[in-house]
Amino acid sequence: MVELKVNNNSRFVDAHIITKETPQKVVEKYGQECTKCHQCCKVDSGLVLEDDLQRLADHMNLPRDEFEEQFLVSHEKFNKKVWKLKQIKEPGKPFGRCVFLDDEKGCMVHEKKPLHCKVTSPKSKFGEQLSLWFVLNHLLDPHDPEAVRQWASYLKSHPTIPGGELHQLVPNKEKRENILSYKIFR
Ligand code: SF4
Repeated sequence: MVELKVNNNSRFVDAHIITKETPQKVVEKYGQECTKCHQCCKVDSGLVLEDDLQRLADHMNLPRDEFEEQFLVSHEKFNKKVWKLKQIKEPGKPFGRCVFLDDEKGCMVHEKKPLHCKVTSPKSKFGEQLSLWFVLNHLLDPHDPEAVRQWASYLKSHPTIPGGELHQLVPNKEKRENILSYKIFR
């Protein structure tokens, strides 16, 4: 159980308050618990969905294709191609800071930052659950057999939130087994 403050009143709620079905505005609210320490922005960068792309391009006053070229790299997660903000990597290091992180000003696109950055706050008490909500609602396609197989593999060593279990994503047992045994390939 965890303590949740609502209108200055404390109440105790189930720690699994975030589910796949939790509305985005609720998830964004918890994401605001981000303390803007920017530690995560120093070693990684946010994923950019289609809905984010034009907003960011407009914010930078750039045509979409120029914005893509200057600031994005293509990325794949659970068999889905998405964009990711470029990272400025130091020689010999596999990771680096987000291209929009400024040492003094912090996130240069804070008001328009990608949904991924808005909702995935490691400092929130629901940090990991918020990340899983993002994956389940914006990356993982339960109609894509390869994505389902990759998710099944992920679940062998990671927890999920309610709505993210394999039987919930693919309720038909026979179909689920056929996907996992590659009888349904794609
Ligand atoms: S866009 Fe902003 S919040 Fe997102 S990773 Fe970059 S610096 Fe961090």
